[in-house]
Amino acid sequence: MSAEERLIRYAKIDTQSDPKSATSPSTMKQFDLAKILLEELKGLGIEDAVLDEYCYVYGHLPAVGDTSGKTIGFVAHMDTAPDYTGTGVNPRIIRNYDGKDIELAPGVVTAVESFPQMKQLKGEDLIVTDGSTLLGADDKAGIAAIMEALQYWQEHPEEPHCRIAVAFTPDEEIGRGTANFDVKKFDADFAYTADGGPVNTITDETFNAMSAVVTFHGFSVHPGSGKNKLISACNLAVEYHTLLPAYMRPEHTEGKEGYIHMTGMQGSTNKAVLEYILRDHDRQKLEAKAELMRKAAQWINDRYGEGSCEADIVWTYRNMKEILNDHPEVMGLAEKALQEMGIKAVSEGARGGTDGSNLSFMGVPCPNIGTGGGNAHGRYEYCVISQMEQVSELIRRIAALAAKGEQA
Ligand SMILES: [Zn+2]
Repeated sequence: MSAEERLIRYAKIDTQSDPKSATSPSTMKQFDLAKILLEELKGLGIEDAVLDEYCYVYGHLPAVGDTSGKTIGFVAHMDTAPDYTGTGVNPRIIRNYDGKDIELAPGVVTAVESFPQMKQLKGEDLIVTDGSTLLGADDKAGIAAIMEALQYWQEHPEEPHCRIAVAFTPDEEIGRGTANFDVKKFDADFAYTADGGPVNTITDETFNAMSAVVTFHGFSVHPGSGKNKLISACNLAVEYHTLLPAYMRPEHTEGKEGYIHMTGMQGSTNKAVLEYILRDHDRQKLEAKAELMRKAAQWINDRYGEGSCEADIVWTYRNMKEILNDHPEVMGLAEKALQEMGIKAVSEGARGGTDGSNLSFMGVPCPNIGTGGGNAHGRYEYCVISQMEQVSELIRRIAALAAKGEQA
């Protein structure tokens, strides 16, 4: 089976995750794909392939001609984003794309004006949607690329490579991709997620992330007799929010600038709650943002009495760079493999997190490599077939370099 056939096969299976669900996995339909992948892995000679109760698929391929003793992992997620429907995905291949607007369905057009990167894809074969769903190349193109590499090794048993660990995860799109990840079962020295972006891009840096719940307690009396007594929790919340600098909102930040973003508000006279997320690539700067929010809470307490406001701020994930800096060989191998392919690596900082952010701090240093997918999380999503195949080659070359005991 070719990588494009695999992607189309996987894309047709609905695996949308659900942030409102409390179960693991968040949706049982993710098992539909997991079961197929389990069988395919077994067919590709991954004898120890397993699917666990949380819908994680793991497996290993023994080394061939290896001198390093290393195990390198490759990870991709099975779920698709809750942002857009993944039911009834009906992919279409465009051969030799002309670089112009693509009419996905009557009135639904991937316009070059809105997506200028399309121009550079002239001459490529693309997989696109029928305009009614997302494609799910995020991250089924990553799964297809990993499977394609395994198939290559099955067909070329003489080809040297290090020991390989594979994991397919559920619920990445709702931030729970590593919630039940079994690092011991995965058993890799380091790993790569193949989760989006062009083939030349390696992501070695993510945000540091915290979330905050700020609770306000008012003093509720009948408003008719409220003079000098009534304190509205809603007013405290409004006052609190205005203490946070507007220039730190995501709509005013880019690149390496972090942000404080209010994601929810609810309240009554008696009690109000504001929810925030805080992001910054720089850990100290993120901690400073958290401190600013605590000081604002203290300011409210000083003014309206102790206990008027509580700010509860917790870590969500951390910047993988902190870990990857201590393991330069992980980025080095990927860069060298790309170089062998004649591709210049671009290392990029993501304004978000990946499964690799958490995995890196769980003991498996894990940057992200591309998939050839683009315009994720909506109906304009596409995958560049040649790039997906190149990602597969990249995976093979990384494993071959490791087998030679190559360091960066
Ligand atoms: Zn993804």
